[in-house]
Amino acid sequence: TLDAGFLVRWLAAVAEDVDREADRLTELDSAIGDADHGVNLKRGFAAVTEALAKEPPASPGAVLVTAGRQLISTVGGASGPLYGTLLRRAGKALGEDAEVTRERLAEALGAGVSAVSQLGGAQPGDKTMLDALVPGVEGLRSSYEAARAAAEEGALATVPLQARKGRASYLGERSVGHQDPGATSSALLFAALAGTAR
Ligand code: ADP
Ligand code: MG
Ligand code: MG
Repeated sequence: TLDAGFLVRWLAAVAEDVDREADRLTELDSAIGDADHGVNLKRGFAAVTEALAKEPPASPGAVLVTAGRQLISTVGGASGPLYGTLLRRAGKALGEDAEVTRERLAEALGAGVSAVSQLGGAQPGDKTMLDALVPGVEGLRSSYEAARAAAEEGALATVPLQARKGRASYLGERSVGHQDPGATSSALLFAALAGTAR
């Protein structure tokens, strides 16, 4: 089972991966957005790491709620409120339990993904983070490795899509042929989760 420490280690690993991949994420966003996705997430996850180190929450749910709040309050771009909502909603779904199973984490993240879809009005196929989040959460019902692989595949599958939500949608057909930055960072979340569980 997963305790608060596991969730803290997961988010620390995400922060590291975001740091390492920030230039690539920003490059992807420069093709179909405003070239700030890496910068946005770097700022956001640095704040998450700092908040969790300062006052380590007692439960997995509380870790996710704290992280989500930090993302909402520190990231200016669309991805901040969206990722913040994902984690906050997932955290609330986990409640106060000191330990949770992978299956319950998958269920809670599923609730978070629904909240992201409701907030941003996007569906899978719209070339957004949901194209990696939805298959990632579905894969997590089976295993961490399935989640990692499905999210990665989902991010790659955004290349031929035309964006229907977010800044990239302003480009219309010119958004085709580029990988969505948010789907790419969402794949990082599941890669870090698989790495933490290993
Ligand atoms: P901004 O577009 O405000 O500069 P970011 O660059 O940080 O914000 O994030 C862009 C990413 O956010 C996109 O690549 C996309 O995956 C995601 N995104 C944007 N709008 C939506 C939406 N309505 N629903 C889901 N995801 C979205
Ligand atoms: Mg941007
Ligand atoms: Mg921006």
